[in-house]
Amino acid sequence: MDFQEHFATEEACREYLFACRWPEGFRCRRCGGGEIGVMHARRRVWQCKGCGAQTSVTAGTLMHGTRTPLRLWFWAAYLLATHHPGISAVQLQRQLGIRHHETAWMLLHKLRRATVAPEREPLKREVEVDEFFLGGYEEGLSGGRARGKKTLCGVAVEVRGRGSGRLRLAVLDDASVGSLGSLLKATTEPGAIVNTDGWGGYSGLSALGYEHRPRNQSAAVPGEEPYLPRAHRAISNLKAWLHGTHRWASAEHLSAYLDEHVFRHNRRRNPHAAFQTLLGLSTIHRPSTYREIIDELPTAA
Ligand SMILES: [Zn+2]
Repeated sequence: MDFQEHFATEEACREYLFACRWPEGFRCRRCGGGEIGVMHARRRVWQCKGCGAQTSVTAGTLMHGTRTPLRLWFWAAYLLATHHPGISAVQLQRQLGIRHHETAWMLLHKLRRATVAPEREPLKREVEVDEFFLGGYEEGLSGGRARGKKTLCGVAVEVRGRGSGRLRLAVLDDASVGSLGSLLKATTEPGAIVNTDGWGGYSGLSALGYEHRPRNQSAAVPGEEPYLPRAHRAISNLKAWLHGTHRWASAEHLSAYLDEHVFRHNRRRNPHAAFQTLLGLSTIHRPSTYREIIDELPTAA
């Protein structure tokens, strides 16, 4: 409710964008002047008092040139960034009172694409890695029979004390030494400790420079820490979200859903940074979003 009240008008949204662009006050890009004139009402641009240069507050963001009201962009990004289970186009359409389903779908699609790029710093220190099947949620088909429609995915998650750090998810071709090695190379810093099960597909990890610690499931001892608990928690969270929010995701769109899930997980303690990243605001001012997230996470002792 706070959010909706705060950004109830187009003007309030533009003021927020203005503050994002010039956190230390207006500075003209052309003449360096610090005085701003009135906003050009019809064209929605700000004009420098010194030289007359015009700047749009949406330049460089996802919203530039859009005919969709800023209020809708803001609210959609807010929901996507903070609504815990994420949101489907149908839910968004209902919540925002959008008449056309296509508008809701387009908003989500553009925002979702913004979840892919921003963060590719490798996972560090210690991770849990596992592979699992997704899909085949059609009713009446149980595990084995639906296998043909399932997609193999891999998960890598940082160990942070007793909790989980950052997460990566990826679609895998197969569970071979090559595929699982590629997953590690794409997600995790060499030298890191890598906990896996005893599957032979992980046998190449030591040769890639990781400190591989395989463990057979049968070797788990009562009273000891359960087996790959962070990876398994991440997988069940993902499945609950996919099944609950989207019913099911087709194989070709699965990667986009995995990216969205990872994006929200990795920013779960900083929804404001998630909101700004989604709208493309982090590219026009402080590039420190990632650092802020890292600083907020508890570090392993
Ligand atoms: Zn100027």
